[in-house]
Amino acid sequence: MNYEKTIQNFKDTMKVNLVAEDFNILQNNIDNIMINQSHREHTAGTNYIVGGYDFFNRSINLYNEVSTTTIYHELFHASSSYYDRQKEVVFSGFHHHSKEKDIGRGLNEGYTELLTSRYFGNDTDSGYKNETHYANLVEGLIGKEQMQSFYLKSDLDSLISELSKYNSVEAVMQFIDDLDKFIVIEELRKDKIDNFENIPYAEYLAWFDEVNEYIGKTYMQLNQFIIDSYINKLYNDPNFEEKKNQLMTMMSAPLTFFNKEYVFDMNSQFGTSSRTI
Ligand SMILES: [Zn+2]
Repeated sequence: MNYEKTIQNFKDTMKVNLVAEDFNILQNNIDNIMINQSHREHTAGTNYIVGGYDFFNRSINLYNEVSTTTIYHELFHASSSYYDRQKEVVFSGFHHHSKEKDIGRGLNEGYTELLTSRYFGNDTDSGYKNETHYANLVEGLIGKEQMQSFYLKSDLDSLISELSKYNSVEAVMQFIDDLDKFIVIEELRKDKIDNFENIPYAEYLAWFDEVNEYIGKTYMQLNQFIIDSYINKLYNDPNFEEKKNQLMTMMSAPLTFFNKEYVFDMNSQFGTSSRTI
């Protein structure tokens, strides 16, 4: 398959939707990018990976049949990634990782998915629906142009300091960490399912119980962060009530994790929120 048209369409669409400075970053990062397609046998733990971006070889690798939306998702990763050889850190949008640290993967996947659906249509197979939900709420705090710009510049630090205007730095870091854990848990779950025969059933069930409880708590924490931040941001806004209601509508949609639905009583969570900084 020839991907030139897809890449051209990606550039044409983004050119009219980004400020020049950000578009130049995107264009430079995907200049001469390689897209490879290969067949991958179904093996435990890897069957759900549909594509990836190789930072070191600047190539997008697609496994088996993928939708065009997946290619756009990977093109966003490629557009926002670079490898700092001196520091030995991969900067990929809001995801920064090296041997010592790994931060921002959840928020990065969520935002990548948000941009993909905004400009190139919904990916019905997206594995990052919850991360996308929170990335969208974060963008509401930061503003679309600024958040897109931080993403393309891989500028996690500016994102953190911008969010710290409405919450403590500790709370911001906790929020980013909680979203990262979602991805780790999702991967562990796939491992458990793939190794189902090798795990005693009671142990298997106990793991899921424990994780469900953890996820329930994490959702409360993520929602509290969002609510507190919005309240701090909108505190003096003349349209506070209207904006608060919009936020509540956005947040009241049930979220699904491991096929279990989590619904929160937004009214009671709003009740506990107060202006903190
Ligand atoms: Zn991705």
